[in-house]
Amino acid sequence: MYKQIFFDFDSTLVHAETLDLLADLAGVGPEVRRLTEASMNGELPIEAVFEKKLAMISPSLAMIDRLHKIHPPFVEGVEELVATLHRLGKEVFILTSNFGMIVAPYAEELGIRSECVIANELFHDDEGNYLGMNASNALAHTGGKRIMIDRYIQDKQKAVMIGDSVTDLACQPSVRTFIGFAGVVAREAVRAQADVFVEEASALALLPHLLTKQERESL
Ligand SMILES: [Mg+2]
Repeated sequence: MYKQIFFDFDSTLVHAETLDLLADLAGVGPEVRRLTEASMNGELPIEAVFEKKLAMISPSLAMIDRLHKIHPPFVEGVEELVATLHRLGKEVFILTSNFGMIVAPYAEELGIRSECVIANELFHDDEGNYLGMNASNALAHTGGKRIMIDRYIQDKQKAVMIGDSVTDLACQPSVRTFIGFAGVVAREAVRAQADVFVEEASALALLPHLLTKQERESL
């Protein structure tokens, strides 16, 4: 049924909003969390807050390194889920407004190739100080995930997107099925519109929605 499976990253694959954790490291956690929640619930457009949040955090390479050492955990079952999908020959993507260098170690652990990580970019100077983000990347804007997913989808009928927030829901018209995953956080705006809404804490609860009966029996 599905050939291309797109996952959001924060609060879908990992049990955290990693930019909020970076904000904690930078000492601006509460202010940044307020902006994150407002944009995830659809109260504020991403472009109104994203660059501002990053400027507040000013994530140096050293801070990103500390975040990777803290290593917020995968959502329960994610490693097994992705390994199973790979074993069945599915193309697994990460589609996130987060940044390639933040997501990369997780993708590697899951065996997801860098070509299958669709993310934004951060810029640093030679000393590793934060210079800025790529504000012209579609992922920095409302509806950006849909623009990016459209560049990768080969056949809408064989594509599925899984995510927790309204920015993920924007991909719904591009895919056969949009699955709202509420294993970390349940958002009512997503529940209201998702084709499927999964509330179990384990990502393995997604499997019955991703595989045919025949694929499940072949495992
Ligand atoms: Mg998310």
